[in-house]
Amino acid sequence: MVDLTGQYEDIREEVNRSIQQVMDTAAFINGPEVQGFQKELEEYLGVKHVIPCANGTDALQIAMMGLGLKPGDEVITADFTFAATVEVIALLGLTPVLVDVDEETFNIDPAAVRKAITPKTKAIVPVHLFGQCAPMDELLEIAEEHGLFLIEDNAQAIGATHTFKDGSKKKAGTMGHVAATSFFPSKNLGCYGDGGAIFTNDDDLAHFIRGIVNHGMYERYHHDVIGVNSRLDSIQAAVLRAKLPRLDTYCERRRQAARKYNQAFRGNKELILPKTVNNCEGICSTCDCHVFHQYTLRITNGKRDALAAHLSEKGIPFGIYYPIPLHKQKAYADTRYKEADFPVTNQLVKEVISLPMHTELDDEQISYITTTILNFI
Ligand SMILES: *Cc1c(COP(=O)(O)O)cnc(C)c1O
Repeated sequence: MVDLTGQYEDIREEVNRSIQQVMDTAAFINGPEVQGFQKELEEYLGVKHVIPCANGTDALQIAMMGLGLKPGDEVITADFTFAATVEVIALLGLTPVLVDVDEETFNIDPAAVRKAITPKTKAIVPVHLFGQCAPMDELLEIAEEHGLFLIEDNAQAIGATHTFKDGSKKKAGTMGHVAATSFFPSKNLGCYGDGGAIFTNDDDLAHFIRGIVNHGMYERYHHDVIGVNSRLDSIQAAVLRAKLPRLDTYCERRRQAARKYNQAFRGNKELILPKTVNNCEGICSTCDCHVFHQYTLRITNGKRDALAAHLSEKGIPFGIYYPIPLHKQKAYADTRYKEADFPVTNQLVKEVISLPMHTELDDEQISYITTTILNFI
């Protein structure tokens, strides 16, 4: 699904040198590499504060702690996503409220969000799924109308740009009150272990969160709030500093692969291609609305599982993201959910299949993958 070894070849010397420097100076925790990466990522995103932490799940949890959400508060998020999002909501004693998604973009459906709002609702967590932004115009409007926090789960869309209806643009993760991202190795900006970060433009929130990630300390050995220990280590920061200047190129290589997939599959009646929000289908060469964390097809002839088995036989990796709606997971089932409220997610889990997507895909690989799929279909 990804080729991290191939990608490393290109940056081997630079990465090795930076890691060696961390070893030589023994600045393992909060060293200059962490400070440097934080500043460079702030500049890249155009956001006032980046607070590095240990992983993307922590980033989500800490963002919610920073907003002062309390047990019993309801937090709305998507039914069709990775479990981390709902996990931290539940872990903090908040009440997760799962809602359905849009069948074309796979992102949270604003109409479903509106329907789920109650007097207890305090926040919405849109996930920018598979590499493109959730419908932020509508979500920001809803959040403002109801006085809700908007927490972006940006683990899959770092580097993507959202174009608002008035034509203005912002990077994914800089539009809500706070955002969380992950540097898990297979993410678009991945390190060589675990890593994550929180973004915000709010100075007070940033200060509060910087204490939370460090045991609730704002002054050494004064613990003002209950915090956590969540740090990005210096070696991972060194890797990320080498990769950040290449992020746009990495995203463009993913888009190139997506365009080739699209060209091969377009017009096939049994397949639904991933849709980009501005309808360019990733074909226009300047579009940065989609960074293709995943390239996800829908197989509409009922043969998704048979295709998956066929791909396995042919040695082609694939992913089923996601096979089970979150509202059907044992840990998150709730009597408040009615099946009729999740027609899209219930359908998508039977149809989706994600193909190999990374920066090192070559034409021969893409042609083997697309030919194998088309022959099977
Ligand atoms: C990867 C991911 C996370 C969690 O990130 P980790 O760094 O693995 O903790 C959270 N949300 C989404 C949508 C993700 O894809």
